[in-house]
This record gives sequence, structure tokens and C-alpha cells, in this order.
Amino acid sequence: MNILLIGPPGAGKGVQAKLIQNYFSIKQISFGDLLRVESKNNSFLSKRICCKLNKGLLVEDKFIFYIFKKNIVNYNNILFDGFPRTVKQIFFLKQIGFKFNIIIHIVVKDEFLLKRIKYRLFGFLAYESYNIIYNRPKIKYKDNLSGCKILQRSDDKYFLFKERLNKYSNQINKILTYFTLNNINVIQINGEVGYFNIFEKLKRVINNYEKL
Ligand code: AMP
Repeated sequence: MNILLIGPPGAGKGVQAKLIQNYFSIKQISFGDLLRVESKNNSFLSKRICCKLNKGLLVEDKFIFYIFKKNIVNYNNILFDGFPRTVKQIFFLKQIGFKFNIIIHIVVKDEFLLKRIKYRLFGFLAYESYNIIYNRPKIKYKDNLSGCKILQRSDDKYFLFKERLNKYSNQINKILTYFTLNNINVIQINGEVGYFNIFEKLKRVINNYEKL
């Protein structure tokens, strides 16, 4: 079973993806995390990626396909968080024979995200995301896994985040239109509730699919 989780930045996709990974035998893959890892290498590609990440812009499709091929060898039991984000990326998956069984869209309004993102902090060693209000670390400002300090992502700064939201709505509309035109079912979930509530709904959706 392959799952696609879509939703705006700050919707909690990363946290939910990790919860799903631990509950079901499915591997979570975040393209944002893959890109952050790749951006640390000292290469032409890493510099290009870094530049895009810092500006909150999408990394070019050709680099995304390269990173996909480099990191993903098995096409089964995968949960993608943040991929595909363009119609070209959907076509790429189609071309290599990769299919999603469940597509879930976590829906959250911009005003809600802008409030929530102020409190988001990130552990850059283990790529864990926290929220001082909704999803606190066990020790204040420390990553649960590595014990290192958790920080705000540079692309979560208010104005950059606002820009990311604008770009996101453009991208997502194209993707959702593609799914609608191709009769592909997208399950909508309200993401304006606590992360535990969202996870309960996600569990129900995945369990229902498994029973089919
Ligand atoms: P995320 O961690 O999902 O919020 O992604 C962080 C950043 O990584 C995005 O703002 C983009 O710059 C980049 N990114 C993530 N996924 C993709 C993708 N599928 N295509 C292009 N760029 C991506």
C-alpha cells in the first residue's frame, strides 16, 4: 500500500507521517527532509537546493527526480509527504509505475497556519518537528531523540512562510485539479484539530482501506 499525504506547510504532515510509520508497517519519506540532507553535501546540486530551500521555492523537477532515484529503490509500502508537488512529478511517478492507493489531503486555513507556525521548532539532527503549544518536546527546547537544541527553520520565518503558503495554494490547486480530472479520489481531513485527533482520523481511513 502506498499513501500520499498532502497539505500546506505547517499542517503537521511530518508529525502524522511519522505516527503512521510507527503504527502501520509503512515507510515515511519526506522530500523536504531528503532535500535538507542533500543540501549539506558540498556539491553543485547541494548549493542549488540550499538556494531554493532558503527562498521557500520548489526545487527543480530534474533534481527531484535525481533525488528520488538515488533514495527510493522499493516502490511498496511508502508514505510520501511532500511529493509529488507538481504535475510533472505526478507524470514521473506514472512513468515509473508508482501508484498511490490512498491520497489524503490535510486541510488547514492560512490564518490558522500562520498562528501555529510561530511556535514550530525543528530538530536538525533527527529531522523531528515540534510545536511549543501543540506538540512539545520532553525537555524544553531539546530534541527528544538527539538532545540537541531545537530551532526555527529559516523558511518558517513569518514573511517567507506567508510566501510559501501563497505558492503552495497555486501548486496544490493544479495537483487537485489533475486528480479531479482523472477521477482520482482524494480524502479530505480537517487539520485544524489536535495532532492526536488528526491521527485518529488517519488511522480510520487507512484501516478502512485495508479492510477492502
Ligand atoms: P517541507 O519540509 O515539505 O515543508 O519542504 C521544504 C522545502 O523543500 C519546500 O519549501 C521546497 O523548497 C522543497 N521541496 C519539498 N518537496 C519538494 C518537491 N516535491 N518538489 C520541489 N521542492 C520540494
